[in-house]
Amino acid sequence: MPVRLRANNPEYLEAWRGLYGYKYNDFSETHVRELLETKRRIKREKGAAYPVWVLDRLGIETMLANRTVMGRGLDAPRFRWVWNATPMMFPLNNEEAKKSNPQRQTDFTDDERRLKDYLGEFKFTRLPDKLDDYLSKFIVPILEKRKRDGAIAVKIIAAYRRTLEFADVPETEAQRIYSKYSNDSSLNTAEYKALQDFLFRRIALECGRIGLAVHIHVGAGEGGWFYNSTASPFLLDSVLNDPKLKDTNFVLIHGGLPFAQATRFLLDKGNVYADFSSQAFLTSTRELSSVIRSWLEFMPEKVMFGTDAYPMTTAVGWEEIGWLTTKSARLALAMALTEMMKDGEITRARASELARMVLRENAIKLYGLKLN
Ligand SMILES: [Zn+2]
Repeated sequence: MPVRLRANNPEYLEAWRGLYGYKYNDFSETHVRELLETKRRIKREKGAAYPVWVLDRLGIETMLANRTVMGRGLDAPRFRWVWNATPMMFPLNNEEAKKSNPQRQTDFTDDERRLKDYLGEFKFTRLPDKLDDYLSKFIVPILEKRKRDGAIAVKIIAAYRRTLEFADVPETEAQRIYSKYSNDSSLNTAEYKALQDFLFRRIALECGRIGLAVHIHVGAGEGGWFYNSTASPFLLDSVLNDPKLKDTNFVLIHGGLPFAQATRFLLDKGNVYADFSSQAFLTSTRELSSVIRSWLEFMPEKVMFGTDAYPMTTAVGWEEIGWLTTKSARLALAMALTEMMKDGEITRARASELARMVLRENAIKLYGLKLN
């Protein structure tokens, strides 16, 4: 694990103190056991109100929850749904890709299970025979349904599965490939890629039409099997420059480390935004502050706070990661703004304005959130 995500990171002691009143300054077995009991008790007492209670401790008004389904206590306006649309890009036989490494084996197996569930919602017990049906009787209606059910964006984690370079493949070609292979296991890899390329762009197009943002994982991924070279945000150039997709808002999730400067120079495209989620645990607060500064000096209207608060263990869950990233990212933002003031780039008043934009207002504008 990267240093800040290791179980013995002393920052988690502080998180436990802030969240659960942990009284100790060590990871001794008895103390951690006591902490786990306290956590269980608070969860039980708070019940469905627990997730909102955590947000209050973190000082977060609205959290975007990147999930397949929303769970108990994850209600608007405090939680907003970002639905995982990735499995719809991989409807054919994935056995070849699964062989590349153990992570892809797990990821594609998950995708296949999810796609089956998603199709089941529309009474498909197997893949429709024709691409037309897959699009008009499944992809379009499921995106519309998610929107009606409160989703504000979809998440695409294709970078864990393949390259982020998506060619503009004609529909007739996609139809041909889909029909040829929908009942066939001997799949040509290049043709399957072309179908995936087409599906990604079609999902993005439909999202633009109905007003869902498209969240794309860019840059480093977790797990030790991740292909960094095919996860650069610059690989999205042809998608982000496609006039047909100009009504789709893309958010470059995590900001693309180690390609944060590539992300920065995509922010001048009208429909491209970025958050710096996960950077607050992948790197130091100082390094994050220099990324934030460089983005703010280029396109401050497109920069958004983010945590990537996900559960690792029972002791370090989304709560503790949320605590660490929130504290570190706020400090990094303060450092960036202070240095910009010292260098005479901005006034104190503008620094406050920029802080509010990054932490709140840019997201409200992008997602059209109505808050009280
Ligand atoms: Zn991600």
